[in-house]
Amino acid sequence: MQGSSRNRQIVLRSRPAGLPTSGHFGLVESPIPEPGDGEVLMRTLWLSLDPYMRGRMSEARSYSAPVPIGGVMVGATLGRVVASRDPAFAVGDVVLGYGGWQDYAVAPGRRLRKLDPALAPITTALSVLGMPGMTGYVGLLEIGRPRAGETVVVSAASGAVGSVVGQIAKIKGCRAVGVAGGAEKCAYVVDVLGLDACVDHRSPGFAEALARACPSGVDVYFENVGGAVQEAVWPLLNDFARVPVCGLIAQYNDTTPRPGPGLSSVLTKRLTVRGFIVSDHAAAQDAFLREVSAWVRDGRIKFREDIVEGLERAPDAFLGLLQGRNFGKLMVRVAS
Ligand code: NDP
Repeated sequence: MQGSSRNRQIVLRSRPAGLPTSGHFGLVESPIPEPGDGEVLMRTLWLSLDPYMRGRMSEARSYSAPVPIGGVMVGATLGRVVASRDPAFAVGDVVLGYGGWQDYAVAPGRRLRKLDPALAPITTALSVLGMPGMTGYVGLLEIGRPRAGETVVVSAASGAVGSVVGQIAKIKGCRAVGVAGGAEKCAYVVDVLGLDACVDHRSPGFAEALARACPSGVDVYFENVGGAVQEAVWPLLNDFARVPVCGLIAQYNDTTPRPGPGLSSVLTKRLTVRGFIVSDHAAAQDAFLREVSAWVRDGRIKFREDIVEGLERAPDAFLGLLQGRNFGKLMVRVAS
């Protein structure tokens, strides 16, 4: 698992139509790069695997450019500095960056954030105290605007984003109902995360069970998946409900467009349906870190990380993420 004198890189070989396979990725080796002025060379310790990477494999118009064919797959990383030509970083520092699916990466120092391993386990910078946690925090509080006593439904409730959403909904005094795939994830959502109920979207009678779990309807639906789950939630939305549209993972491999939930209920129920991308909300970063770190410290927010060993396993682990085989924030230990 430790790196050799070569840089192993996982590249995009071809663009998938539908669900990707391991054949869409390739493993290549190249020389370890040298940092230029103002740059830092990092040895990747941890690689975050996230659903947005499916979008980067595609050429469809999006908020971010696709990975070119033959290019290294993008991704957030935690790395140890092994050479530095930026005075702000020293050899041995642990940094959060965007190194991609490879053993070594060079980046300008201004794009890196130094982590203090004494403050929190470093992997939390990719999970609960990182981009996914921030996504749940801003999406729920700025767009969902939950009020005590309301019902909040969150899909992919055991996952990196959803687990934060459900627990903050509880902290804010809401009835929190999760949707997750399978009995084990649902039990975790209720027994460990403390949500009021969790409904298995893979079980027969899912829509009826969800309606029973939401006897007063739904005031906030934190949308992580789309597809059949969205169809089941939509009729339960109350007047003036808010729907932060965070992700549509059930649809990322679709090859034909699906009909949406329809605009007539947006009008008649005066819904607020608003998409958001976490990077637009940088202003909330300090509040997020302050509040969520405190909630993690005092045990009000729990989190779970799903760890895969070895860079070469990243493609299969990522394919599992697109099918619900991960259980918690998925990340790869590239080196110890
Ligand atoms: P998770 O850790 O929740 O993992 C993904 C989960 O999605 C799977 O475990 C699975 O959970 C669920 N899933 C996969 N396929 C389906 C399907 N066909 N139907 C229903 N559920 C499915 O991932 P994240 O927390 O990192 O991401 C959750 C969502 O948030 C994604 O849609 C992602 O794209 C989005 N996101 C958006 C951001 C933004 O800025 N807008 C930023 C970060 C994430 P289960 O087994 O429970 O079904």
